[in-house]
Formats: sequence, C-alpha cells, structure tokens
Amino acid sequence: MNPWEANIRRVTPYVPGEQPKKTNMIKLNTNENPYGPAPTVTEEMKNFNTELLRLYPDPAAQVLADALAGRYGLGRDQIFVGVGSDDVLAMAFLTFFNSDKPILFPDISYSFYSVWAELYGIPYERPALDEGFRIRKEDYYKENGGVIFPNPNAPTSLAMGLSDVEDIVAHNQESIVIVDEAYIDFGGESALGLIKKYENLLVVQTFSKSRSMAGIRIGYAMGNPALIKALNDVKYSFNSYTMNQLTLVLGAAAVKDEAYFQETIGKIKATRERAKERLKALGFVYPEPSANFIFASRPGTDARALFLALKEKDIYVRYFDAPRINQYLRITIGTDEEMDTLFEFLAGYLSKTTEEMAVKC
Ligand code: PMP
Repeated sequence: MNPWEANIRRVTPYVPGEQPKKTNMIKLNTNENPYGPAPTVTEEMKNFNTELLRLYPDPAAQVLADALAGRYGLGRDQIFVGVGSDDVLAMAFLTFFNSDKPILFPDISYSFYSVWAELYGIPYERPALDEGFRIRKEDYYKENGGVIFPNPNAPTSLAMGLSDVEDIVAHNQESIVIVDEAYIDFGGESALGLIKKYENLLVVQTFSKSRSMAGIRIGYAMGNPALIKALNDVKYSFNSYTMNQLTLVLGAAAVKDEAYFQETIGKIKATRERAKERLKALGFVYPEPSANFIFASRPGTDARALFLALKEKDIYVRYFDAPRINQYLRITIGTDEEMDTLFEFLAGYLSKTTEEMAVKC
C-alpha cells in the first residue's frame, strides 16, 4: 500500500437507482414524475438570457427563496435552497448533527441517511419499524443527537399522522428534528405549520417529485431563521454558489404555476388508486401508499426474480436486497398507459409461474 493511501477517506457510497437511457423503457424505479415540468418552466427556458451566465449567480438564491416564501407564506429568512434535497439534507446533517449522542432514524428508510452519518462520523441508531412498517414514535423519545425521518416514509410509502409527527418534535426540543417531506404533496399532512411552534423543526422538500424537475436539482428547507442562518453559514463555508442562474429562474417559474402542479398531482393520485386495485387483484399486498410509489409484495412470488424478469422487458422498478424488505418491489406511479403495460406483463408472468409450479408439483 502507498503511504498516501492511509490518508484517503474511505466511504461506502449511496447507490442511486439505475438511470438507463433507453428509448422504449418504462421507468418506474426512481420516483420521478411521469409528466413534464410546468409550461411556465418551458417558457422561462426559451426566454433565458444566456448573457447572465457570464456572472456568478446570486449566492443567496433570492429569486427562488422569495418564490418559495410566497408560496408557503414564510419569510425569505425561513427558506434555504440547495442542489436537490440530497444537498439540503447533507448540509443539514453537517450543520445540526454535531453531538456525541446518536442521531435516530428508522431501520427501513431513505438509505442515504446512514451514508451521510458515516461520512461525517455521526453516531446513529436505527429504531425498527413495527411489523406493519410503521414508525413507533416512542422509540424517538430517548436522548439523542438529532432525529430525521421521511414522511411519507421511503421506500414504504406509508405516512405518519401529523399529531404523531408533532409528538416526536415536542419530545425532542433539545435536538433538531428534520422531517424529510420529499413525497408529501402526494399524501399525508405536512409538518410545515409546526415550524412557528417549534424552533427545533426543519422541514425539507424537493422539486424532484411533485414538481417534475428531478433533472434540475432543487431542494429546500423551511424552518425558523436561526436554523436557516446556521445552514447558510455552513453552506458558505463549503461552496457559496450551489445554485446556478438557470436553475434559480426555472425553479421560481415552476412555483408560479400552481394549477399545473395541482393537476399533475391529481393525475398521479388517480393512477395510484387504479394501481392499488390492479395490484390487489393480482394478489399483491402493500402498505397504504401516500407517496408516488407503491411498496408491493406478492406472497409466493419471489420479488428478485420478478424484478429481473421486468428488467428484461425494459420495465424498471426498484428492488432492495436488504433484510425485511427483500420480498418487496418499489413501483413508481407512471402514466396510466405505462402502468397498464406493467399490469399486462405481471398478469402474464404470474399465470406462467403458476403453470410452472403446477408442472413441478
Ligand atoms: N428524501 C427521500 C426520502 C428520497 O426518496 C429522495 C429521493 N431519492 C430524496 C430525499 C432526494 O431527492 P432529491 O435530491 O432529488 O431532492
């Protein structure tokens, strides 16, 4: 081993979902929105003055922070924006989880949390979800260095009621509680209303799902001005210009089109309802979904084999080879047409495997 190798920071990285670039695939593996961004975004893009790219962007990302502040009825000093909510969450881990006590997050949850904790050397504990994949709020009532959980949770799609979220925040007023609301626009109740009451609460959301803009990378945190200032201080100590000029104006344009936002969410929820029925009819079980995906399992059908068979047909869903969830598939809600192709395949696959079983028996 070369002596310099001893100085390298070694980490086990987060593994993002596959991003295949095929023309005829059905991509239901990374919870993207099947519909395009708002027409206001396309319009703003056409009118974008490329001369602006000569200059550094506004490090305070004011035009976007103001648009979000207006949308959520907050002050601009209550909003922090970043390069997707992954960037916002990474900054929040670095800023707020600076204690010798362990931070707490569920055993089945967004797998990036443990990666950031490892990267920054933050001790952590992962209380187990109950057998129905629900968060047990009492597990978060002990001493800790901070708390984070998604609501709705990923990959389960299950939402926790607002009063339970509030109980966790109220029991932890000596540490920061981050509620990761990447999927909240598709179901569940946002904790945003609680930031007035609890100084220790940070709510994080994203443009990647409900606003159809995973490719532009915008995430944001909302909380009291002291928390936002602390986040900005760390950001300015790391990289002042995280948000590029084009992203700032396209993000602000997206927020203005409330009607389009509501319309696409409505369509996805309607497709989710249909998908629930179809999956049930095919023998699948799933926790009640509140996000833009369903976490489904079929007793007697191997999830990994099914995942591979789907992939063979260029239908991509997400499979996690992890304890307790390795018999589940996380299926993003696509368009009705995409979902119909999925169900058609599933019906054929299941009748074939049932026939094979019959022959073997
Ligand atoms: N939180 C959760 C729970 C997620 O599932 C994701 C998507 N991978 C993110 C945060 C990050 O999304 P983005 O960085 O695209 O905002």
